[in-house]
Amino acid sequence: MASRPLVAANWKMNGLKASIAELEKIIAGARAFAAVDLVVCPPATLIACFAAKAQGTRVTIGGQDCHAEAAGAYTGDISAEMLRDAGAKAVIVGHSERRRYHGETDAAVRAKAMAARRAGLLAIICIGETRAQRDAGRTRDVLRAQLDGSLPDNDESIAIAYEPVWAIGSGLTPTRDDIGETHALIRERLSSRFAETGRNTRILYGGSVKPGNARDLLSVEDVDGALVGGASLNADEFLAIASVYRNF
Ligand code: PEP
Repeated sequence: MASRPLVAANWKMNGLKASIAELEKIIAGARAFAAVDLVVCPPATLIACFAAKAQGTRVTIGGQDCHAEAAGAYTGDISAEMLRDAGAKAVIVGHSERRRYHGETDAAVRAKAMAARRAGLLAIICIGETRAQRDAGRTRDVLRAQLDGSLPDNDESIAIAYEPVWAIGSGLTPTRDDIGETHALIRERLSSRFAETGRNTRILYGGSVKPGNARDLLSVEDVDGALVGGASLNADEFLAIASVYRNF
């Protein structure tokens, strides 16, 4: 384990004001989890009220994306500084849904990760291969290229989320051996780029993590936590996943 494990909830485009009840349940449950960092990333509309609710608790709030610039004529976008101002402490960047639906390149993801650092946010940088890339035997090359292109110059305050695109929301997961091999590759890349801190950067696994498979998936070497989509919308399921780290 590189350092304290991190379990992050990606709510995607789900949640209204009433969903604060789910956050309250997560906050209450999190009191038992001293050894794990919990981050909830709701839609941007909920960040300020969630952050106010989570103030002083074991749960921190994050955004799901940010613009690379601090401010300017970018209609509809939100900067890392704005997330910070709303009370966020983290931001997901380069999620495969952003790469796919918004055409985000590695260079754009890298710029967002640098913006996160500028604003004092933890950047959770997502990488992962598609099914076609995997079937073509290109997984390692794709991940190497994504890492080389998406990582910021500085190693401070980043976590990597390895999320095979084909595993997201599909109920499918890689084998433990596959995850172990991939996380070892990511660790090797981080260590050669950032030396000591690269050895301590958290590498999360994401893609169909559920209470029923969490222990199996998260006990693989070099897996330092999880990025959870669908199951994180339900506080009980999210806490059941985080409870894997209860006795650490
Ligand atoms: C995600 O979108 O980051 C994710 C991991 O989704 P799910 O857990 O639903 O596969």
